[in-house]
Amino acid sequence: MHSLRELSKEAVLYQKLAGGKTRCLACAHRCVTAPGGAGRCGVRFNQGGALMAPWGYISGAAADPMEKKPFFHALPGSRTLSFGMFGCNFHCEFCQNWDISDARGRSHAPAETAPERLAREALSRGLAAVVSTYNEPLITADWAAGVFAAARAGGLRTAFVSNGYATPEAAAFLRPCLDFWKVDLKSFDPGKYRAVCGGELEKVRAGLELIKASGFWLEVVTLLIPGFNDSAAETEAMAAYLAGLSRDIPWHLTAFHPDHRMTGVAPTPPETLLRARDLALKKGLRYVYCGNLPGRGSGLEDTVCPACSRKVVERTGFAVTANILGPGGVCPCGEKIPGVWS
Ligand code: SF4
Repeated sequence: MHSLRELSKEAVLYQKLAGGKTRCLACAHRCVTAPGGAGRCGVRFNQGGALMAPWGYISGAAADPMEKKPFFHALPGSRTLSFGMFGCNFHCEFCQNWDISDARGRSHAPAETAPERLAREALSRGLAAVVSTYNEPLITADWAAGVFAAARAGGLRTAFVSNGYATPEAAAFLRPCLDFWKVDLKSFDPGKYRAVCGGELEKVRAGLELIKASGFWLEVVTLLIPGFNDSAAETEAMAAYLAGLSRDIPWHLTAFHPDHRMTGVAPTPPETLLRARDLALKKGLRYVYCGNLPGRGSGLEDTVCPACSRKVVERTGFAVTANILGPGGVCPCGEKIPGVWS
């Protein structure tokens, strides 16, 4: 069995600097690393003046519904081959994948594989897309691009489930092989982003704007955590910002459950999600969804046509139970619902 360091190859997204140092271009931290050192994510490292990046393994893979990622305006009702690696460029105290996002504290060994093998597995299982998820995909963008190229060759779509800490170099590198990008917007308070997640809100905003402007299909999710990011003022600020980017960006509001280093915080009450949804709709967003609220009545996960108020896609949990959209995502009333529908 190979170690994580052995499961690496020279990165694409980096620059060589004087003195054998490297500057990584994969995420907005832009780590400068001397020979023998590693970036903040711990998985990209300088070996003799070359930046090495993870390659040739996964931490795990599963056939997941597209709705579980969550993407609601991208191939609804389809299933994906979701895979992850190890490591993250953030250190969120409420992380819900901490056993694989912390490369040093990981709970299991890497499973060695190849891009073509993952693509073949997705095709043989009748899946529609491959998704880099479970850990932050930007830090392993080189590997994701390899898997996505193989998947695209087989006619599959591709997706990132990411914190959005993107650079222009990473977006340009991924644009030829990546279709859908889900970004986790964790807060709208720069101090909390820095202290609790280890990232800069300003750079997440720049990442969102870049992803949108680059033409990826973008959906945003926010885990509402009591006392952290669930105030009406913060919800309104996030919603106004997203609506300013585009009223058509789907925003998924999901409920927190105590995890990792945030075990002393209560689960999110359903009322908080419902209030946040109302505030977001008032700020102009047209597609706002509430997740993790089973049994709280219909409509919270359904896609509703903004022109005629018909339910065009109905969901229960991760299952699509009805879809009356025509080709290209057109409602029977003629309104085109934004997204990628086939
Ligand atoms: S991916 Fe981000 S955190 Fe990791 S080395 Fe590159 S710039 Fe640093």
